[in-house]
Formats: sequence, C-alpha cells, structure tokens
Amino acid sequence: MNRAENNWKIDILLQGNPTQAAVTLLRNRDLLVLVDSGWPRTRTQLVTALAEHGVQPQNITHVLHTHLHIDHAANHPILTEAVLLASKAEFRWADRLYHNLIEDEDDVRFITSVFPQLSGPTLEQAVAFIQLARRICRRDLFSRWDEIQFYEDHGLPEGLSVMPLPGHTPGHCGIVVSNPEPVLMAGDALTTEHTCLSRMPPTNPNEFEASTETVRRFRGRIIPGHLPPFEQR
Ligand SMILES: [Zn+2]
Ligand SMILES: [Zn+2]
Repeated sequence: MNRAENNWKIDILLQGNPTQAAVTLLRNRDLLVLVDSGWPRTRTQLVTALAEHGVQPQNITHVLHTHLHIDHAANHPILTEAVLLASKAEFRWADRLYHNLIEDEDDVRFITSVFPQLSGPTLEQAVAFIQLARRICRRDLFSRWDEIQFYEDHGLPEGLSVMPLPGHTPGHCGIVVSNPEPVLMAGDALTTEHTCLSRMPPTNPNEFEASTETVRRFRGRIIPGHLPPFEQR
C-alpha cells in the first residue's frame, strides 16, 4: 500500500465537551471506522452527522473503543454490522463493573465499592447518575456486549494502531492514525473532573498521570474525549 492509499480521512462527527464524548469517523477505501460511539443522548446527532457524510449506521465496519464508559460505548444498537473492539483489560474490568451495577440495587454501596474516595456532593452526584447508567447498561451497552473482540487478538486496519493509555480506566487506550500528519484520538486520557460530566476519578491516578505525559509527548493532532481538538508540534 503506498502512502496516498494509507491516508485516512478523518471527520469528527461529535466534538467532545463536558457533556458528551467525541465520536470520530475514519475512512479509507471501503473501511468506515468509528472511534467510540457516544451514548443514547447523542444518538440522533450521530445518525445525522453520519448521514451528512453519506454513511448509514449499519455501514460502519469497525468501532474502536478508547474505553468502555457508557458515554463512549453505548450506541451499539444501531451499529449492527460493525466489528466491536476494545482492550482485554478494559473488557474484563467493565464486564465486572456493569454486571455489579445491574445486580446491586444499593446505589451508595455500589458507588463506594468502585470509588471509595467519593463523598459529599460528588457522591450524591454519582448516585443521581446511577439509575440512568443502569438503564443505559441494560438496554444499550449490553445490546452487543458479548460480541466485543479484543485488540490483542484482532489486527487493526493498516495505518491504525492502539496506544495503551491506562489509568482513567484499566484498559483505556488511544487510537493513532499514521497519516502524514499523525492523529491521536486520546479518549479520556486528558479528562479531569472539570471536563467530564460523569466526574469519574481515575481507576489508577499514577497510571493516569503517566498516560497524560505520553499524550503530551505525541506530535500531531490530538482529538480528546471531552475537549476540543488541538495540535502539538
Ligand atoms: Zn468520557
Ligand atoms: Zn471515561
């Protein structure tokens, strides 16, 4: 494959902000790849943005997940034909988390088991979010849950690669496009409690800091999960 053929066309369908996660479309020949898919609240916007690029949801060939938080991974019901990919560590962690979420009806016990550091208003905020999270989990996130495959077992299309950026969640990663100007979809590796609605603390603060540093060393265009895109030279 020559350089021209390996130039992915990149369109941000939904720009990340504190109330929604970025969804990016990568196109190369017959491949239509989404990096993250957003959640039900942004589903109509996603369908409209895809249509503006002449794409139907069922045409999407792959969804590459930066991680499996519900704001990034809960539009699978309309992406019926796509190969769904995430890291093994992320799936194992999320699988246990979400099964506990739908089985444990005691919201405070559930939240403090996952985030023991939360208290006061941040705990109240998390509890208020939990009913919604449970509903999205049952109806949307689990719609194709058992079909999720792993980066470790499944090669990515040429010109795309995974950059492990753990810490926000255990198997969080970025997706790199090796275009002449490299692009990194950084997921929530730069997310802080001020930039994200869910205000989820990192599952591992030390790893999170190291991953933030890794992103800061990247040269090219960066598309974060909850911030506007920017260039690093
Ligand atoms: Zn997020
Ligand atoms: Zn997240």
